[in-house]
Amino acid sequence: MKSTDVLIIGGSAAGMVAAVTGKAHWPNKSFTLVKKQKDVMVPCGIPYIFGTLESSEKNLMPVDAMMEKNGITSLVDEAIEINTNEKFVSFASGEKIQYQKLLVATGSTPVKPKWLEGADLENVFVIPKDRQYLDDMNSKLGNAKNIAVIGAGFIGVELSDELKKRGYNVTLIEKLPHILNLAFDVELSEKIHEMLTTRGVNIITGVGIKKVLGNGKVETIELENGKKINMDAVILSMGYKPNSELAKNSGITIDEDGFVAVDEYMRTHTNDVFAIGDCAQKRDFVTRRRVPTMLASTACAEARIAGMNLFNLHVVKTFSGTIAIYSTAIENTGFGTAGVTEQRANEEDLEVITGLFEGVDRHPGNLPNAQKQIVKLIAAKNSGVIIGGEVIAGVEAGELTNVIGLAIQNRMSVNSFLTMQIGTHPCLTASPAAYPLIKAAEQIANKQLKLMRGEK
Ligand SMILES: Cc1cc2nc3c(=O)[nH]c(=O)nc-3n(C[C@H](O)[C@H](O)[C@H](O)COP(=O)(O)OP(=O)(O)OC[C@H]3O[C@@H](n4cnc5c(N)ncnc54)[C@H](O)[C@@H]3O)c2cc1C
Repeated sequence: MKSTDVLIIGGSAAGMVAAVTGKAHWPNKSFTLVKKQKDVMVPCGIPYIFGTLESSEKNLMPVDAMMEKNGITSLVDEAIEINTNEKFVSFASGEKIQYQKLLVATGSTPVKPKWLEGADLENVFVIPKDRQYLDDMNSKLGNAKNIAVIGAGFIGVELSDELKKRGYNVTLIEKLPHILNLAFDVELSEKIHEMLTTRGVNIITGVGIKKVLGNGKVETIELENGKKINMDAVILSMGYKPNSELAKNSGITIDEDGFVAVDEYMRTHTNDVFAIGDCAQKRDFVTRRRVPTMLASTACAEARIAGMNLFNLHVVKTFSGTIAIYSTAIENTGFGTAGVTEQRANEEDLEVITGLFEGVDRHPGNLPNAQKQIVKLIAAKNSGVIIGGEVIAGVEAGELTNVIGLAIQNRMSVNSFLTMQIGTHPCLTASPAAYPLIKAAEQIANKQLKLMRGEK
Protein backbone atom coordinates (compact mmCIF):
# COMPACT_ATOMS: atom_id res chain seq x y z
CA MET A 1 0.00 0.00 0.00
CA LYS A 2 1.21 3.50 -0.86
CA SER A 3 1.43 6.04 1.93
CA THR A 4 1.48 9.79 2.30
CA ASP A 5 1.46 12.13 5.29
CA VAL A 6 -1.44 14.18 3.98
CA LEU A 7 -4.03 12.87 1.53
CA ILE A 8 -6.46 15.24 -0.16
CA ILE A 9 -9.56 13.94 -1.95
CA GLY A 10 -10.76 16.48 -4.53
CA GLY A 11 -8.70 18.80 -6.69
CA SER A 12 -10.80 21.89 -7.20
CA ALA A 13 -10.73 25.17 -5.22
CA ALA A 14 -10.73 23.65 -1.73
CA GLY A 15 -8.43 20.68 -2.36
CA MET A 16 -5.88 22.68 -4.32
CA VAL A 17 -5.64 25.53 -1.80
CA ALA A 18 -5.49 23.18 1.19
CA ALA A 19 -2.65 21.26 -0.46
CA VAL A 20 -0.61 24.37 -1.25
CA THR A 21 -1.21 26.04 2.15
CA GLY A 22 -0.59 22.80 4.00
CA LYS A 23 2.66 22.08 2.18
CA ALA A 24 3.88 25.66 2.86
CA HIS A 25 3.23 25.16 6.59
CA TRP A 26 4.49 21.57 6.82
CA PRO A 27 7.23 21.36 4.16
CA ASN A 28 8.69 18.14 5.56
CA LYS A 29 5.44 16.24 5.20
CA SER A 30 4.49 14.47 1.99
CA PHE A 31 1.24 15.58 0.34
CA THR A 32 -0.86 13.68 -2.23
CA LEU A 33 -3.90 15.12 -3.98
CA VAL A 34 -6.31 12.79 -5.78
CA LYS A 35 -9.03 14.10 -8.08
CA LYS A 36 -11.63 12.33 -10.17
CA GLN A 37 -10.98 14.18 -13.43
CA LYS A 38 -7.73 15.21 -15.06
CA ASP A 39 -9.13 18.55 -16.25
CA VAL A 40 -10.48 20.85 -13.57
CA MET A 41 -12.56 23.84 -14.59
CA VAL A 42 -12.17 27.24 -12.93
CA PRO A 43 -15.61 26.88 -11.34
CA CYS A 44 -16.40 30.59 -11.28
CA GLY A 45 -15.47 30.87 -14.97
CA ILE A 46 -18.04 28.28 -16.12
CA PRO A 47 -20.80 30.75 -17.13
CA TYR A 48 -18.27 32.51 -19.37
CA ILE A 49 -17.50 29.43 -21.47
CA PHE A 50 -21.00 29.89 -22.97
CA GLY A 51 -20.20 33.42 -24.15
CA THR A 52 -17.10 35.51 -23.54
CA LEU A 53 -14.58 32.63 -23.32
CA GLU A 54 -16.29 30.57 -26.03
CA SER A 55 -14.84 27.23 -24.90
CA SER A 56 -13.90 25.21 -21.84
CA GLU A 57 -10.28 25.13 -23.06
CA LYS A 58 -9.82 28.70 -21.84
CA ASN A 59 -11.26 27.95 -18.42
CA LEU A 60 -8.93 25.28 -17.07
CA MET A 61 -7.39 25.44 -13.60
CA PRO A 62 -3.67 24.54 -13.70
CA VAL A 63 -3.97 22.14 -10.76
CA ASP A 64 -1.33 19.60 -11.85
CA ALA A 65 1.23 22.31 -12.62
CA MET A 66 0.59 23.96 -9.28
CA MET A 67 0.95 20.67 -7.42
CA GLU A 68 4.22 19.92 -9.21
CA LYS A 69 5.57 23.40 -8.46
CA ASN A 70 4.82 22.89 -4.76
CA GLY A 71 6.22 19.37 -4.48
CA ILE A 72 2.81 17.72 -4.11
CA THR A 73 1.93 14.42 -5.82
CA SER A 74 -1.17 14.72 -8.00
CA LEU A 75 -3.13 11.62 -9.09
CA VAL A 76 -6.31 11.02 -11.07
CA ASP A 77 -8.55 8.45 -9.41
CA GLU A 78 -11.84 8.16 -7.55
CA ALA A 79 -11.91 7.56 -3.81
CA ILE A 80 -14.51 4.90 -3.07
CA GLU A 81 -13.99 4.17 0.63
CA ILE A 82 -12.24 5.66 3.64
CA ASN A 83 -11.11 3.25 6.33
CA THR A 84 -10.98 5.65 9.25
CA ASN A 85 -9.73 3.03 11.75
CA GLU A 86 -6.72 1.87 9.76
CA LYS A 87 -6.41 5.28 8.09
CA PHE A 88 -6.32 4.44 4.41
CA VAL A 89 -8.44 5.30 1.37
CA SER A 90 -9.41 2.83 -1.36
CA PHE A 91 -9.66 4.05 -4.94
CA ALA A 92 -11.58 2.88 -8.01
CA SER A 93 -8.32 1.78 -9.68
CA GLY A 94 -7.71 -0.68 -6.83
CA GLU A 95 -5.02 1.54 -5.30
CA LYS A 96 -4.99 2.04 -1.53
CA ILE A 97 -3.25 5.00 0.13
CA GLN A 98 -2.41 5.23 3.82
CA TYR A 99 -2.60 8.68 5.42
CA GLN A 100 -1.71 10.50 8.62
CA LYS A 101 -4.15 13.32 7.92
CA LEU A 102 -7.01 13.25 5.40
CA LEU A 103 -8.75 16.22 3.81
CA VAL A 104 -12.14 15.56 2.22
CA ALA A 105 -12.76 18.20 -0.47
CA THR A 106 -15.30 16.40 -2.64
CA GLY A 107 -17.36 19.51 -3.44
CA SER A 108 -20.92 19.62 -4.72
CA THR A 109 -23.13 18.66 -7.67
CA PRO A 110 -26.14 20.45 -9.14
CA VAL A 111 -29.63 19.59 -8.04
CA LYS A 112 -32.15 18.28 -10.59
CA PRO A 113 -35.38 18.31 -8.61
CA LYS A 114 -37.21 14.97 -8.56
CA TRP A 115 -40.59 16.75 -8.52
CA LEU A 116 -39.93 18.48 -11.85
CA GLU A 117 -41.84 16.56 -14.51
CA GLY A 118 -39.87 16.45 -17.76
CA ALA A 119 -36.52 17.09 -16.08
CA ASP A 120 -35.03 14.11 -17.94
CA LEU A 121 -36.05 15.25 -21.42
CA GLU A 122 -33.30 15.91 -23.92
CA ASN A 123 -31.99 19.49 -23.73
CA VAL A 124 -32.71 19.92 -20.04
CA PHE A 125 -29.35 20.77 -18.49
CA VAL A 126 -27.79 21.50 -15.12
CA ILE A 127 -24.41 23.17 -14.60
CA PRO A 128 -21.92 20.75 -13.08
CA LYS A 129 -18.19 21.51 -12.82
CA ASP A 130 -17.53 18.75 -15.32
CA ARG A 131 -15.73 19.69 -18.52
CA GLN A 132 -17.06 16.81 -20.63
CA TYR A 133 -20.68 17.56 -19.68
CA LEU A 134 -20.25 21.29 -20.29
CA ASP A 135 -18.63 20.74 -23.70
CA ASP A 136 -21.52 18.44 -24.70
CA MET A 137 -24.04 20.96 -23.42
CA ASN A 138 -22.33 23.79 -25.28
CA SER A 139 -22.55 21.93 -28.57
CA LYS A 140 -26.17 20.76 -27.99
CA LEU A 141 -27.17 24.36 -27.30
CA GLY A 142 -25.80 25.26 -30.72
CA ASN A 143 -29.12 24.82 -32.58
CA ALA A 144 -31.36 26.23 -29.87
CA LYS A 145 -33.13 29.59 -30.20
CA ASN A 146 -35.16 29.92 -27.01
CA ILE A 147 -33.51 29.01 -23.73
CA ALA A 148 -35.06 29.11 -20.26
CA VAL A 149 -32.73 29.53 -17.29
CA ILE A 150 -34.48 28.47 -14.10
CA GLY A 151 -33.25 30.12 -10.91
CA ALA A 152 -31.93 33.68 -10.68
CA GLY A 153 -29.14 33.28 -8.18
CA PHE A 154 -25.74 34.56 -9.30
CA ILE A 155 -25.09 31.53 -11.54
CA GLY A 156 -28.45 31.89 -13.34
CA VAL A 157 -27.91 35.63 -13.79
CA GLU A 158 -24.36 35.25 -15.14
CA LEU A 159 -25.35 32.42 -17.44
CA SER A 160 -28.38 34.30 -18.82
CA ASP A 161 -26.26 37.31 -19.67
CA GLU A 162 -23.59 35.18 -21.35
CA LEU A 163 -26.14 33.18 -23.40
CA LYS A 164 -27.80 36.43 -24.46
CA LYS A 165 -24.41 37.68 -25.66
CA ARG A 166 -24.24 34.60 -27.87
CA GLY A 167 -27.53 35.59 -29.49
CA TYR A 168 -30.03 33.25 -27.81
CA ASN A 169 -33.47 34.40 -26.74
CA VAL A 170 -33.06 33.92 -22.98
CA THR A 171 -35.81 33.84 -20.35
CA LEU A 172 -34.69 33.86 -16.72
CA ILE A 173 -37.32 32.50 -14.35
CA GLU A 174 -37.23 33.01 -10.57
CA LYS A 175 -39.79 31.77 -8.07
CA LEU A 176 -38.88 34.40 -5.46
CA PRO A 177 -40.15 37.97 -5.91
CA HIS A 178 -36.82 39.32 -7.18
CA ILE A 179 -33.71 38.12 -8.92
CA LEU A 180 -30.71 37.63 -6.60
CA ASN A 181 -33.29 37.76 -3.83
CA LEU A 182 -31.09 36.15 -1.18
CA ALA A 183 -27.98 38.23 -1.91
CA PHE A 184 -29.30 41.77 -2.44
CA ASP A 185 -32.00 43.96 -0.98
CA VAL A 186 -34.67 44.98 -3.42
CA GLU A 187 -33.43 48.54 -4.10
CA LEU A 188 -30.20 47.06 -5.47
CA SER A 189 -31.55 43.90 -7.11
CA GLU A 190 -34.03 46.04 -9.04
CA LYS A 191 -31.13 47.88 -10.65
CA ILE A 192 -29.51 44.59 -11.70
CA HIS A 193 -32.90 43.43 -13.02
CA GLU A 194 -33.16 46.61 -15.08
CA MET A 195 -29.66 46.17 -16.50
CA LEU A 196 -30.32 42.59 -17.55
CA THR A 197 -33.63 43.55 -19.14
CA THR A 198 -31.98 46.37 -21.06
CA ARG A 199 -29.50 43.84 -22.38
CA GLY A 200 -32.38 41.77 -23.71
CA VAL A 201 -32.83 39.02 -21.11
CA ASN A 202 -36.53 38.30 -20.45
CA ILE A 203 -37.12 38.01 -16.72
CA ILE A 204 -40.08 36.43 -14.98
CA THR A 205 -40.14 36.61 -11.17
CA GLY A 206 -42.53 35.45 -8.48
CA VAL A 207 -43.47 32.25 -10.26
CA GLY A 208 -41.70 28.91 -10.48
CA ILE A 209 -41.47 26.26 -13.15
CA LYS A 210 -44.04 23.45 -12.93
CA LYS A 211 -43.06 21.08 -15.70
CA VAL A 212 -41.08 20.67 -18.89
CA LEU A 213 -43.01 19.26 -21.82
CA GLY A 214 -41.89 17.71 -25.07
CA ASN A 215 -41.79 14.58 -27.16
CA GLY A 216 -38.41 13.20 -26.05
CA LYS A 217 -36.93 16.69 -26.27
CA VAL A 218 -37.82 20.04 -24.68
CA GLU A 219 -40.62 21.86 -26.51
CA THR A 220 -42.44 23.90 -23.87
CA ILE A 221 -42.23 24.82 -20.22
CA GLU A 222 -45.24 25.29 -18.00
CA LEU A 223 -45.06 27.71 -15.07
CA GLU A 224 -46.89 27.41 -11.75
CA ASN A 225 -49.46 29.97 -12.98
CA GLY A 226 -50.31 27.76 -15.95
CA LYS A 227 -48.50 29.90 -18.53
CA LYS A 228 -46.79 27.87 -21.27
CA ILE A 229 -43.73 29.13 -23.14
CA ASN A 230 -42.05 27.45 -26.11
CA MET A 231 -38.43 26.56 -25.42
CA ASP A 232 -35.66 24.61 -27.15
CA ALA A 233 -33.59 24.12 -24.02
CA VAL A 234 -33.93 24.49 -20.25
CA ILE A 235 -31.03 25.10 -17.89
CA LEU A 236 -31.74 24.35 -14.25
CA SER A 237 -29.79 26.56 -11.88
CA MET A 238 -31.65 25.52 -8.77
CA GLY A 239 -28.87 24.88 -6.30
CA TYR A 240 -26.16 22.36 -5.44
CA LYS A 241 -25.94 19.47 -3.00
CA PRO A 242 -22.82 18.51 -1.07
CA ASN A 243 -20.93 15.41 -2.26
CA SER A 244 -20.87 13.78 1.14
CA GLU A 245 -21.78 10.14 0.33
CA LEU A 246 -18.15 8.97 0.47
CA ALA A 247 -17.72 10.47 3.95
CA LYS A 248 -21.12 9.26 5.10
CA ASN A 249 -20.58 5.68 3.87
CA SER A 250 -17.23 5.67 5.67
CA GLY A 251 -18.84 6.54 9.02
CA ILE A 252 -17.91 10.23 9.11
CA THR A 253 -20.63 12.36 10.71
CA ILE A 254 -22.93 14.21 8.30
CA ASP A 255 -25.43 16.86 9.43
CA GLU A 256 -29.20 16.84 8.75
CA ASP A 257 -28.67 18.81 5.54
CA GLY A 258 -26.11 16.38 4.14
CA PHE A 259 -22.96 18.42 4.82
CA VAL A 260 -19.93 16.87 6.53
CA ALA A 261 -20.01 18.14 10.13
CA VAL A 262 -16.93 20.18 11.06
CA ASP A 263 -15.57 22.35 13.85
CA GLU A 264 -13.89 25.75 13.50
CA TYR A 265 -10.57 24.11 12.51
CA MET A 266 -12.46 22.26 9.76
CA ARG A 267 -11.97 18.94 11.63
CA THR A 268 -14.70 16.34 11.22
CA HIS A 269 -15.86 14.28 14.19
CA THR A 270 -13.44 11.54 13.02
CA ASN A 271 -9.83 11.74 14.16
CA ASP A 272 -7.37 13.11 11.62
CA VAL A 273 -10.04 13.76 9.01
CA PHE A 274 -10.81 17.33 7.88
CA ALA A 275 -13.54 18.47 5.46
CA ILE A 276 -13.44 21.67 3.45
CA GLY A 277 -15.28 23.48 0.68
CA ASP A 278 -18.77 22.84 -0.66
CA CYS A 279 -19.06 19.43 1.04
CA ALA A 280 -18.33 20.84 4.52
CA GLN A 281 -20.89 22.22 6.93
CA LYS A 282 -21.38 26.02 6.91
CA ARG A 283 -22.58 28.42 9.58
CA ASP A 284 -23.51 32.02 8.90
CA PHE A 285 -21.01 34.40 10.49
CA VAL A 286 -23.67 36.81 11.76
CA THR A 287 -26.78 34.76 12.50
CA ARG A 288 -24.85 31.59 13.49
CA ARG A 289 -27.44 29.52 11.66
CA ARG A 290 -26.34 26.59 9.48
CA VAL A 291 -26.52 27.71 5.86
CA PRO A 292 -25.97 26.00 2.49
CA THR A 293 -23.63 28.74 1.19
CA MET A 294 -21.35 27.41 -1.55
CA LEU A 295 -18.68 29.80 -2.72
CA ALA A 296 -15.17 29.24 -3.99
CA SER A 297 -14.01 32.12 -1.78
CA THR A 298 -15.45 30.42 1.30
CA ALA A 299 -14.01 27.07 0.17
CA CYS A 300 -10.53 28.60 -0.16
CA ALA A 301 -10.74 30.32 3.25
CA GLU A 302 -11.70 27.00 4.86
CA ALA A 303 -8.92 25.25 2.94
CA ARG A 304 -6.30 27.69 4.23
CA ILE A 305 -7.56 27.22 7.80
CA ALA A 306 -7.40 23.42 7.48
CA GLY A 307 -3.95 23.56 5.86
CA MET A 308 -2.55 25.70 8.68
CA ASN A 309 -4.03 23.52 11.42
CA LEU A 310 -3.20 20.07 10.06
CA PHE A 311 -0.58 18.93 12.59
CA ASN A 312 -0.76 21.61 15.28
CA LEU A 313 -3.69 23.82 16.11
CA HIS A 314 -3.05 27.53 15.60
CA VAL A 315 -5.67 28.59 18.08
CA VAL A 316 -6.32 31.98 16.52
CA LYS A 317 -6.58 30.64 12.98
CA THR A 318 -10.12 29.36 12.89
CA PHE A 319 -13.02 29.60 10.47
CA SER A 320 -15.74 31.40 12.38
CA GLY A 321 -18.54 31.17 9.87
CA THR A 322 -19.18 32.21 6.30
CA ILE A 323 -19.76 35.89 5.54
CA ALA A 324 -20.84 34.86 2.03
CA ILE A 325 -18.88 37.56 0.26
CA TYR A 326 -19.67 37.51 -3.41
CA SER A 327 -19.40 39.76 -6.42
CA THR A 328 -20.40 39.52 -10.03
CA ALA A 329 -20.45 41.78 -13.08
CA ILE A 330 -22.54 42.66 -16.06
CA GLU A 331 -20.23 44.23 -18.62
CA ASN A 332 -18.41 47.03 -16.71
CA THR A 333 -20.79 47.20 -13.78
CA GLY A 334 -19.87 45.22 -10.70
CA PHE A 335 -22.24 44.03 -7.97
CA GLY A 336 -21.08 42.80 -4.58
CA THR A 337 -22.63 41.60 -1.38
CA ALA A 338 -21.26 40.57 2.01
CA GLY A 339 -22.90 39.42 5.23
CA VAL A 340 -26.63 39.65 5.79
CA THR A 341 -29.07 41.73 3.77
CA GLU A 342 -31.55 44.04 5.50
CA GLN A 343 -34.31 41.63 4.49
CA ARG A 344 -32.50 38.66 6.04
CA ALA A 345 -31.82 40.66 9.20
CA ASN A 346 -35.55 41.45 9.49
CA GLU A 347 -36.40 37.77 9.09
CA GLU A 348 -34.00 37.01 11.94
CA ASP A 349 -35.48 39.67 14.28
CA LEU A 350 -32.17 41.44 14.05
CA GLU A 351 -32.84 45.17 14.26
CA VAL A 352 -30.67 47.18 11.92
CA ILE A 353 -29.89 50.68 10.78
CA THR A 354 -28.88 51.12 7.18
CA GLY A 355 -27.09 53.78 5.18
CA LEU A 356 -27.12 54.04 1.38
CA PHE A 357 -24.92 56.40 -0.57
CA GLU A 358 -24.90 57.04 -4.30
CA GLY A 359 -21.78 58.71 -5.61
CA VAL A 360 -19.31 58.47 -8.43
CA ASP A 361 -16.03 56.54 -8.61
CA ARG A 362 -13.81 59.32 -10.01
CA HIS A 363 -13.21 62.92 -8.96
CA PRO A 364 -14.13 65.07 -10.69
CA GLY A 365 -16.95 62.97 -12.07
CA ASN A 366 -16.25 64.42 -15.53
CA LEU A 367 -13.18 62.21 -15.89
CA PRO A 368 -13.44 59.54 -18.59
CA ASN A 369 -15.02 56.23 -17.54
CA ALA A 370 -16.49 57.71 -14.36
CA GLN A 371 -19.24 55.44 -13.11
CA LYS A 372 -21.93 55.53 -10.47
CA GLN A 373 -21.12 53.94 -7.12
CA ILE A 374 -23.82 52.76 -4.74
CA VAL A 375 -22.93 51.43 -1.31
CA LYS A 376 -25.40 50.17 1.25
CA LEU A 377 -24.16 49.40 4.76
CA ILE A 378 -26.18 47.47 7.32
CA ALA A 379 -25.36 47.83 11.03
CA ALA A 380 -26.86 46.12 14.08
CA LYS A 381 -29.03 48.74 15.78
CA ASN A 382 -27.96 47.96 19.33
CA SER A 383 -24.19 47.97 18.76
CA GLY A 384 -23.50 49.77 15.49
CA VAL A 385 -21.49 46.73 14.36
CA ILE A 386 -21.45 46.31 10.59
CA ILE A 387 -23.18 43.04 9.65
CA GLY A 388 -23.73 43.48 5.92
CA GLY A 389 -23.12 45.56 2.85
CA GLU A 390 -24.02 45.72 -0.82
CA VAL A 391 -22.28 47.52 -3.64
CA ILE A 392 -23.03 48.48 -7.23
CA ALA A 393 -20.09 50.19 -8.92
CA GLY A 394 -17.49 49.75 -11.62
CA VAL A 395 -14.97 46.92 -11.50
CA GLU A 396 -13.93 48.10 -8.02
CA ALA A 397 -17.23 46.76 -6.65
CA GLY A 398 -15.51 43.45 -5.86
CA GLU A 399 -12.76 45.02 -3.75
CA LEU A 400 -15.13 47.47 -2.00
CA THR A 401 -17.24 44.44 -1.05
CA ASN A 402 -14.12 42.71 0.27
CA VAL A 403 -13.41 45.72 2.53
CA ILE A 404 -16.92 45.43 3.92
CA GLY A 405 -16.33 41.70 4.41
CA LEU A 406 -13.20 42.36 6.46
CA ALA A 407 -15.10 44.91 8.57
CA ILE A 408 -17.81 42.32 9.24
CA GLN A 409 -15.25 39.64 10.09
CA ASN A 410 -13.51 41.96 12.57
CA ARG A 411 -16.83 43.12 14.00
CA MET A 412 -16.01 46.72 13.24
CA SER A 413 -18.59 49.30 14.06
CA VAL A 414 -19.81 52.30 12.11
CA ASN A 415 -17.16 54.32 14.00
CA SER A 416 -14.40 52.44 12.18
CA PHE A 417 -15.80 53.70 8.87
CA LEU A 418 -16.41 57.22 10.21
CA THR A 419 -12.75 57.48 11.22
CA MET A 420 -11.44 55.47 8.27
CA GLN A 421 -8.28 56.74 6.56
CA ILE A 422 -8.28 56.16 2.85
CA GLY A 423 -6.08 56.72 -0.15
CA THR A 424 -7.71 58.36 -3.14
CA HIS A 425 -6.81 59.39 -6.65
CA PRO A 426 -8.94 61.15 -9.31
CA CYS A 427 -8.50 58.36 -11.86
CA LEU A 428 -8.86 55.48 -9.41
CA THR A 429 -11.31 56.23 -6.62
CA ALA A 430 -14.18 58.33 -5.40
CA SER A 431 -13.35 61.67 -3.87
CA PRO A 432 -12.01 61.71 -0.29
CA ALA A 433 -14.91 64.07 0.47
CA ALA A 434 -17.49 61.60 -0.84
CA TYR A 435 -16.00 58.17 -0.28
CA PRO A 436 -18.98 55.80 -0.43
CA LEU A 437 -18.11 53.58 2.55
CA ILE A 438 -17.69 56.65 4.77
CA LYS A 439 -20.77 58.43 3.44
CA ALA A 440 -22.97 55.36 3.93
CA ALA A 441 -21.61 55.03 7.49
CA GLU A 442 -22.34 58.72 8.13
CA GLN A 443 -25.96 58.10 7.25
CA ILE A 444 -26.11 55.30 9.82
CA ALA A 445 -24.44 57.55 12.42
CA ASN A 446 -26.96 60.34 11.71
CA LYS A 447 -29.82 57.92 12.18
CA GLN A 448 -28.25 56.72 15.44
CA LEU A 449 -28.00 60.33 16.67
CA LYS A 450 -31.63 60.98 15.79
CA LEU A 451 -32.65 57.88 17.68
CA MET A 452 -30.65 59.03 20.71
CA ARG A 453 -32.39 62.42 20.55
CA GLY A 454 -35.73 60.68 20.27
CA GLU A 455 -36.35 62.20 16.82
CA LYS A 456 -38.02 60.33 13.99
C1 LIG B 1 -21.26 28.02 -12.66
C2 LIG B 1 -20.66 28.35 -11.32
C3 LIG B 1 -20.16 29.61 -11.07
C4 LIG B 1 -19.62 29.93 -9.83
N1 LIG B 1 -19.11 31.18 -9.62
C5 LIG B 1 -18.55 31.48 -8.42
C6 LIG B 1 -17.97 32.74 -8.18
O1 LIG B 1 -17.94 33.61 -9.07
N2 LIG B 1 -17.44 32.98 -6.96
C7 LIG B 1 -17.45 32.05 -5.97
O2 LIG B 1 -16.92 32.32 -4.88
N3 LIG B 1 -17.99 30.81 -6.18
C8 LIG B 1 -18.53 30.52 -7.36
N4 LIG B 1 -19.07 29.27 -7.57
C9 LIG B 1 -19.06 28.29 -6.48
C10 LIG B 1 -17.75 27.51 -6.52
O3 LIG B 1 -17.61 26.95 -7.77
C11 LIG B 1 -17.71 26.42 -5.48
O4 LIG B 1 -17.98 26.95 -4.24
C12 LIG B 1 -16.33 25.76 -5.49
O5 LIG B 1 -16.12 25.09 -6.70
C13 LIG B 1 -16.19 24.79 -4.35
O6 LIG B 1 -14.96 24.16 -4.46
P1 LIG B 1 -14.72 22.71 -3.86
O7 LIG B 1 -13.28 22.41 -4.09
O8 LIG B 1 -15.25 22.64 -2.48
O9 LIG B 1 -15.65 21.75 -4.69
P2 LIG B 1 -15.80 21.41 -6.25
O10 LIG B 1 -15.41 22.59 -7.07
O11 LIG B 1 -17.17 20.85 -6.42
O12 LIG B 1 -14.70 20.28 -6.51
C14 LIG B 1 -14.74 19.02 -5.91
C15 LIG B 1 -13.74 18.16 -6.62
O13 LIG B 1 -13.65 16.90 -5.96
C16 LIG B 1 -13.67 15.87 -6.93
N5 LIG B 1 -14.22 14.67 -6.29
C17 LIG B 1 -15.46 14.48 -5.81
N6 LIG B 1 -15.59 13.23 -5.31
C18 LIG B 1 -14.41 12.62 -5.48
C19 LIG B 1 -13.91 11.33 -5.18
N7 LIG B 1 -14.68 10.40 -4.59
N8 LIG B 1 -12.63 11.04 -5.49
C20 LIG B 1 -11.83 11.96 -6.08
N9 LIG B 1 -12.25 13.21 -6.39
C21 LIG B 1 -13.52 13.53 -6.10
C22 LIG B 1 -14.57 16.42 -8.03
O14 LIG B 1 -14.38 15.74 -9.23
C23 LIG B 1 -14.12 17.87 -8.06
O15 LIG B 1 -13.02 18.05 -8.89
C24 LIG B 1 -19.61 28.94 -8.81
C25 LIG B 1 -20.12 27.66 -9.07
C26 LIG B 1 -20.63 27.36 -10.31
C27 LIG B 1 -21.16 25.97 -10.59
